Amino acid sequence: MRKADPELDAYAARHLLSPGEAPKLARRDPADIFPHVSHADAREAAEAAVAELDRLQYLLFADRGRSLLIVLQGLDAAGKDGTIRHVFSGMNPQGVRVAAFKQPTPEEAAHDFLWRAHRVAPARGEVVIFNRSHYEDVLVVRVHDLVPEPVWRTRYDAINAFEAGLAANGTRILKFFLHISPEEQLARFAARLEDPARRWKISESDYTERLLWDRYLEAYEDALWRTGTEAAPWYVIPSDHKWYRNLAVAQIIAAALREMDLSVPPVTVDLDDIRQRYHAAKARQK
Ligand code: AMP
Ligand code: MG
Repeated sequence: MRKADPELDAYAARHLLSPGEAPKLARRDPADIFPHVSHADAREAAEAAVAELDRLQYLLFADRGRSLLIVLQGLDAAGKDGTIRHVFSGMNPQGVRVAAFKQPTPEEAAHDFLWRAHRVAPARGEVVIFNRSHYEDVLVVRVHDLVPEPVWRTRYDAINAFEAGLAANGTRILKFFLHISPEEQLARFAARLEDPARRWKISESDYTERLLWDRYLEAYEDALWRTGTEAAPWYVIPSDHKWYRNLAVAQIIAAALREMDLSVPPVTVDLDDIRQRYHAAKARQK
């Protein structure tokens, strides 16, 4: 068993939503940066966490026994893309995939809502990041009345069963709700408007969805409350400060990977025999 690392696990403990606990989002400060006082003070810890993730992902890939699924949810401009860019920057692309959940294609819409999630779930050894996820089917779908309430209400149980099945098959699941304030969202929209390199991200729907803020939060409150489980816990990440969001997410993932006690697989060849072959090859080369 690994020794608990109190510093790494402090972020997990602070932001974990315990199974059955109501999130009470209005009472959580999206600008929380505890225990830091500034970005400068956290820079070293953030770099160390990303490097640590790189090392642990290599072990997960080599181990090939288990996998990691990261679910990222949040309102527009909450920082899903930015989190992916920063937190996973050190990982070997060979073992990492991002799956983006857009409006369902006709083929996806013709199946049950979990079909497209299951298809892109991680294989053993892989890290998969869901940029939005099957949770859209109890969030945007609920807010816009895309299916009747009795239909989306049954989906919490379906999601829990799906995630429990993945977990039983060796997938560690970590779900992050990136929590921003409406003021910060508007500031980010403005920044996009002013930055030619980021204008492409703007859409009219950003502003129409923003009007539905309270309905989205209500949908998130229920979803997080109903689907926070031991097998697939939710973390509510204060995300008004991008640097804090990146640090907290990186530390929580690193702590979870450490807990998995990963190791490089045992050697399956006879090393003495291989050494002799090497020396013979070297002698022939001369
Ligand atoms: P983005 O993440 O900004 O690229 O936008 C993707 C859009 O697809 C968002 O507006 C999502 O709410 C929407 N979306 C994702 N999944 C679904 C779904 N199951 N039903 C309807 N809209 C969805
Ligand atoms: Mg968007």
